[in-house]
Amino acid sequence: MKTPPATRLKIAVRGAVQGVGFRPFIFRLATGLGLKGWVNNSPQGVFIEAEGPRIKLEKFLLQLENEKPPRSFIQSLEATWLDAVGYKKFEIRKSEDSGGKTALILPDIATCSDCLREIFNPKNRRHAYPFTNCTNCGPRFSIIESLPYDRANTSMKKFAMCPECQAEYDDPRDRRFHAQPNACPVCGPHLELWDSNCEALFGRNETLLAAANAIRRGKIVAVKGLGGFHLMVAANNEAAVQRLRKRKHREEKPLALMFPSLKSVKSVCEVSPLEERLLRSPEAPIVLLKKIANKKSQIANSVAPNNPSLGAMLPYTPLHHLLLAELNFPVAATSGNLSDEPICTDEREALERLRGIADLFLVHDRPIVRHVDDSIVRVMLNREMVLRRARGYAPLPVVLNSKISAPDSQSVLAVGAHLKNAVALSVGHQVFISQHIGDLETEPEIVAADLHPDYLSTKFADELEIPKHIGVQHHIAHVLSCMAENELEPPALGVSWDGTGYGLDGTIWGGEFFLVTNEKIERIGHLRPFRLPGGDKAVKEPRRSALGLLYEIFGDTIFGQGKIPTVAAFSKTELAALKTMLKNKINSPLTSSAGRLFDAVASLIGLHQTMRFEGQAAMELEFALDGIETDEAYEFSIMAREDARPTKSEIVLDWSLMVEEILSDVKRGVSVSEISAKFHNALVEAIVEIAKKFSEPRIVLSGGCFQNRYLTERAVKRLREEKFKPYWHQRVPPNDGGIALGQVVAAMRDKK
Ligand SMILES: [Zn+2]
Ligand SMILES: [Zn+2]
Ligand SMILES: [Zn+2]
Repeated sequence: MKTPPATRLKIAVRGAVQGVGFRPFIFRLATGLGLKGWVNNSPQGVFIEAEGPRIKLEKFLLQLENEKPPRSFIQSLEATWLDAVGYKKFEIRKSEDSGGKTALILPDIATCSDCLREIFNPKNRRHAYPFTNCTNCGPRFSIIESLPYDRANTSMKKFAMCPECQAEYDDPRDRRFHAQPNACPVCGPHLELWDSNCEALFGRNETLLAAANAIRRGKIVAVKGLGGFHLMVAANNEAAVQRLRKRKHREEKPLALMFPSLKSVKSVCEVSPLEERLLRSPEAPIVLLKKIANKKSQIANSVAPNNPSLGAMLPYTPLHHLLLAELNFPVAATSGNLSDEPICTDEREALERLRGIADLFLVHDRPIVRHVDDSIVRVMLNREMVLRRARGYAPLPVVLNSKISAPDSQSVLAVGAHLKNAVALSVGHQVFISQHIGDLETEPEIVAADLHPDYLSTKFADELEIPKHIGVQHHIAHVLSCMAENELEPPALGVSWDGTGYGLDGTIWGGEFFLVTNEKIERIGHLRPFRLPGGDKAVKEPRRSALGLLYEIFGDTIFGQGKIPTVAAFSKTELAALKTMLKNKINSPLTSSAGRLFDAVASLIGLHQTMRFEGQAAMELEFALDGIETDEAYEFSIMAREDARPTKSEIVLDWSLMVEEILSDVKRGVSVSEISAKFHNALVEAIVEIAKKFSEPRIVLSGGCFQNRYLTERAVKRLREEKFKPYWHQRVPPNDGGIALGQVVAAMRDKK
């Protein structure tokens, strides 16, 4: 019998894991399962690398959490799957004391089971107290004003501890020993329920009940939580959900759900053991789950219209636990910001901005120092993929491989893509990724930014007085971020597909292939470019992308093809204007974007002509795949780029045959699901074909398009069948939230 190939699992554990027999426990667990590797302690936490068959590693991970020493407590656990390096034994390595200078700020941690028991115990002095916490759980990142992490440097400073809390805080044997946000009903923060005139309707004890009653009656309640405001409505009340959508002008984007219990999640969604672990983890992210098919559900349809998945989370603060326990049904929760505005953190500001949206405001007097969004994860190929790295994860660092960085590497500040996305700061091997420019006491020596001259982030970087500035091409940053988190050294072939990014030749890139070697990064291929009539307008109008595509194939004749859904979607006047634009190349930039190709296909088949938010059409193309199984694929042709210099082998992936096939399928009345499947399959086969042209076995998949589960899973499967080694994202998002990490790596490469 052949032994299954070994793989490596890297785990970073933070929490009360030092000095409680954690390392001997890991040693016994690993050796018991026949795993090889090591465990060590460092000021940043306990780090483990274990190698062996995948199935044993999965067991190791589950047992680690379930059987850990009684006095240990895990506040954060991040696992990454990597290539095996061939460890010969399992050992407890010497503890590292290097890197101790970077004080680690913990993320906000979901309520622990001890605190939960207390708030639901009528005899406990913290019974029903929504701000209960201890050293193992509670707010951290969202309340810290400066370092070191002491109460005086948090937004808890205005609450003087009562004698009982102080005694807990001073007692080394107490669970609240040095718990900085320690509080109780006597001395801590309190809830109030306000109407939109700032009038407190209820204080103290009745507040939660009154808020729950309002939600039950279909009201929209703005709830001040850990890192910002949520707008909450009863998820089983169609009219209430629709009212929220209407008032918030968020008419189609799916809303997340907070469920009262795991059991209630399972009554609506399929939940795998890994997904269950994520839901219950201290990070408590939103997990995208598949709805149970053909089941009449209590969830209002307008929570996530036409969507086969739901974004589910469990309560992660005592306030949420108490509220949801009182309601005993799920609520739809969306961040309390108007579309495209930053999240509200202050109750007065929230009241101003959310007046007219929220009926009532459930607020409290513990200030939020920095806003933290809910994190979002999705399981792909039985691995975690973080789509938004925020609450529960930020600001914990991603640790780079020693081949990329050194302990004394110059510190890099990377400003990401758009200002709203994550920024990153490197300190030695560690890269801190967060939604904010950190107030860490490190002076960066290098600043890395996107090449796009109009990005606010680029302008921000330009104004910084940092000696060295580096511009990094957007899609190269995507590939480098994926390589870094997979600890992959060059060479590798990078596939970088997303909506939009500033290209090195001044066109809009987004369907790119790169060959990454130690010496250089070369663009070796891309999708055939087409024009976007109206430029930025195309982002919300798939019909414009489609028209650009059709014009490329058919030229002027396309404007007479009124039977094609795309053409039919414009008025005569609009068509005339677009024709002039395309003909004269006015305001019609060229793009090789895969995201815009998704949009175009959605328009060609009549699925979406205009949309409410970027990526909506692509998302619905993915939804259309639900339940369909086919290996059929449209045809892409691969050509050498005409203007490529002879020495440079640049490949163009031509979609024209595919577009013609799609048009004929539409005419024949082939279903949207089938067309979508053949389109996705075609993209995957194109990746495989291009990979075959280069002798590089390692293929890196990055960019927003790879949030698409079908695309990623099928690409991985097909590449493996053809004996390639595919890599994709795990801890860092494939979308623009991962750009900052890639910029850091690019800056580090630049110095070599
Ligand atoms: Zn606790
Ligand atoms: Zn107290
Ligand atoms: Zn991107």
